[in-house]
Amino acid sequence: MAPISEPPINVKLLLIGNSSVGKSSLLLRFSDEQWLPEDEASATIGVDFRVHKMDVKGKKVKLSIWDTAGQERFRTITSSYYRGAQGIILVYDVSNRETFDALPRWYSELETYVSDSVVKIVVGNKVDKEYSRQVPTQEAQQFAERMGSLFVEASAKTAVGVREAFRNVVERIIDTPELWGNAAGSKGDAAKRGAKAPASNSTGGVMPGNIDLSAQEQSEGGCSC
Ligand code: GDP
Repeated sequence: MAPISEPPINVKLLLIGNSSVGKSSLLLRFSDEQWLPEDEASATIGVDFRVHKMDVKGKKVKLSIWDTAGQERFRTITSSYYRGAQGIILVYDVSNRETFDALPRWYSELETYVSDSVVKIVVGNKVDKEYSRQVPTQEAQQFAERMGSLFVEASAKTAVGVREAFRNVVERIIDTPELWGNAAGSKGDAAKRGAKAPASNSTGGVMPGNIDLSAQEQSEGGCSC
């Protein structure tokens, strides 16, 4: 058990992947234990983050988990979105082959912005739709292995695999102290910033798409290092 006075380790996770694979739904399920019916879900689109506290391997961890806000629809995820991230959750939809085939493109984008040591997990969402599965588990697992990433199948709808996905990433991050020590995550000057929780007393938020998050980070004091 960590001493009470020990400050939490700030960890920033990002969700990426094609539109409609279930990123927002996974975030809601994990953080709020909530599931919005399919017809209501599209109304929630907007940059969304959640702050979530957990104990991992005897350490207090303050997770800030960022959703893309639908920026991916315009193929313009801003570089600042990636800044300071220690973990990336790449989501595809097991019932939609195209979303799995898009993963290499997502990897090449994130290679531009984050260092190799950043922990990645491939999450095959919507396993409750087994009847319309288009991506075999084994194929996805082998792909994730080739990419040096963790892998899990999940369903935001039934909650299967969701906790496991987030916990596995955080455990791997805690096992990699260089990710949460003085220099963390991103390439370039961003590497010096470390993770920055959005606001110390907040548990989440919604912002319009395509916002420059670097401006927001600065307005909150910028560096947590
Ligand atoms: P995003 O664009 O990647 O953030 O995807 P959303 O979270 O907005 O989800 C897109 C659609 O997929 C919505 O209609 C959700 O209700 C639905 N959805 C998300 N996760 C699941 C899941 O695990 N199972 C099923 N059946 N539908 C899901």
